[in-house]
Amino acid sequence: MAFCGCQESIGFYETLESPRCKGCGGECTVETKHVFVTGQTLYQAGCKECGFFTDWTSEKEMAIEQLKNGEACRREVNLLLFPSDYFDSSIVDADMQKEYAAAMETGLFDVILFDYDAWFNNGRLRLNKSLDIMRRAIYRGWMMKPEQYESFYKALLQSNIRLVTKPEEYNALHLFPNVYEKLGEHTARIMTFPLHEKIDVELLKKSFKRFMVKDYVKSVKGTEFPVYFDETITQEEFDRWMEVFYKYRGELLTGGVCIKEYLDLKRYDGRTNEYRVFYANGHRISCERNSGQMATAPELPLLFEWPSVCQLDYPHLGSPFYTVDFAELADGSWKVIETGDGGVSGLSDGQDIGAFYRSLYWAFHGDS
Ligand SMILES: [Zn+2]
Repeated sequence: MAFCGCQESIGFYETLESPRCKGCGGECTVETKHVFVTGQTLYQAGCKECGFFTDWTSEKEMAIEQLKNGEACRREVNLLLFPSDYFDSSIVDADMQKEYAAAMETGLFDVILFDYDAWFNNGRLRLNKSLDIMRRAIYRGWMMKPEQYESFYKALLQSNIRLVTKPEEYNALHLFPNVYEKLGEHTARIMTFPLHEKIDVELLKKSFKRFMVKDYVKSVKGTEFPVYFDETITQEEFDRWMEVFYKYRGELLTGGVCIKEYLDLKRYDGRTNEYRVFYANGHRISCERNSGQMATAPELPLLFEWPSVCQLDYPHLGSPFYTVDFAELADGSWKVIETGDGGVSGLSDGQDIGAFYRSLYWAFHGDS
């Protein structure tokens, strides 16, 4: 066994009796590798000849099972999946039109549309094209609740589409408490509670000088709900506000309640200084101003060779495609304020969309 710079042992291969490769009819193998950073042993089944592989999994049997189920496909990702228009399933959702056009213009991707109304309102997957052979794809579109995304992923597999982001990876970044520990001191402190459980406000007041209320995905920004609470809030008032919170989140309520330390953000001309960074396949593919701040506001330090540069870069948070949002605090330091799944996070105003899709393509091209 040899070692490479990425701290993985280069795998060894075991030849399988069956099945034969779906791509070229050749022999398939199971590759085993050890990742020293995490101490994991991972398995992947597939064909070295033409490059049809399953995902890496923690169990050998699972890799072989995936291969038998026809879930192997080429590593490269050159297929995008967008929601269609609500009324016309043959055209892309108006909100995704610019991205669709820019992605097509790169000449790097094929695009498949799924029927918005059939999926979001009836849970039925209808695609505008069918595939003969399994292909990996990237989803760009609306947020889904975890259970809805899992159904989506499974239904797509039946149609020979394997999303690069598995359901557990979607949840890893879409639900902030899942990623919280990995960010350590570089994000606001949080406490989590089950939905609809009475929360002891005295405990919150002891833990935080000021705090805000969210569920595992979002707050109820833009409503009369307070931006933050402080030591003046009483239990009775807080309980009443929580009723308001549940009312506003309604159907979208996800995971549990997340109480978050309220951070004092720096403002320039009334605007906060926030950045959204997209990561794909371990690469930072874009880093954009995300709060309408003026161009003279300081840049996110990860763009410079500062000593802190590594601390503010998060290329490996447990999903192949995700976002990390950063904000400058009043004292000039920076913290992570949000994370999100890459498929359902919006691009920034004024972002070069073509450049984004080219970077996305190359991030998944040519390596694992
Ligand atoms: Zn093959």
